[in-house]
Amino acid sequence: MISFVGAGPGDVDLITIKGRKLLERADIVIYAGSLVSKEHLSFCKKGCKFYNSASMTLEEVINIMEDGINKGLNIVRLHTGDPTIYGAIKEQMDILDEKKISYEVIPGVSSFTAACSAIKKEFTLPEVSQTVILTRIEGRTSVPENEDLEKLASYGASMAIFLSVQQIDNVVEKLKDGYKRENVPIAVVYKATWEDEKIVLGTLENISEKVKEEGIKKTAQILVGDFISGDYERSKLYNPEFTHEYRRASK
Ligand code: SAH
Repeated sequence: MISFVGAGPGDVDLITIKGRKLLERADIVIYAGSLVSKEHLSFCKKGCKFYNSASMTLEEVINIMEDGINKGLNIVRLHTGDPTIYGAIKEQMDILDEKKISYEVIPGVSSFTAACSAIKKEFTLPEVSQTVILTRIEGRTSVPENEDLEKLASYGASMAIFLSVQQIDNVVEKLKDGYKRENVPIAVVYKATWEDEKIVLGTLENISEKVKEEGIKKTAQILVGDFISGDYERSKLYNPEFTHEYRRASK
């Protein structure tokens, strides 16, 4: 069996129990070495073979998988965060489908929720935003025109921007154009849940400077929106005046 497993954002204890059990049973682990902590491999049994996909092509990854399956081995493909977000898993699954090789996908804690936890905020606040936009700026991978950062920013929803901190100036310009104001709170979280995690808080006016001062050029989440500092209405769910399926109003 091949299991695509979400390793979580960094801290090895943030993998699911299911993911950890699969690692313990694995004969082969192919891990995304650029962002997955090597400490995960210490949970594997003796003799387990490790491949760092950072230096491999898609074809090489598939060859290792196919060869392992032919030998009846358990294979874990370990991706950072949650595999379904910027994981490049579809192209692997499509080839496996063609080859009639079965697989499963085990979700993980994504870096966007880990980053929001690091700054101890909530993306979805009543009367502030009830929507989270996950996106990235265009880089060597293009982004569809109607998903341009400026356009998405114009919604004023909470945003988590992946893969973009190396272009912080561009990101900020687009956000300013979209929001039409500069006092929007923004947090840059470098390596959320790792030991060298860094949190930089600011607004669109000063964040670029602060991020450069900290020397952050990769592996960061850019969280943007009034959820970081804004006023909000308290939730209906825990309001004594509100009745719902599990509780009657007491007032
Ligand atoms: N599947 C991953 C995302 C992979 S794309 C997930 O769900 O998190 C890689 C990008 O994710 C990085 O450029 C960075 O923007 C973000 N990222 C991954 N790990 C991170 C971490 N620990 N802290 C902050 N950002 C992280």
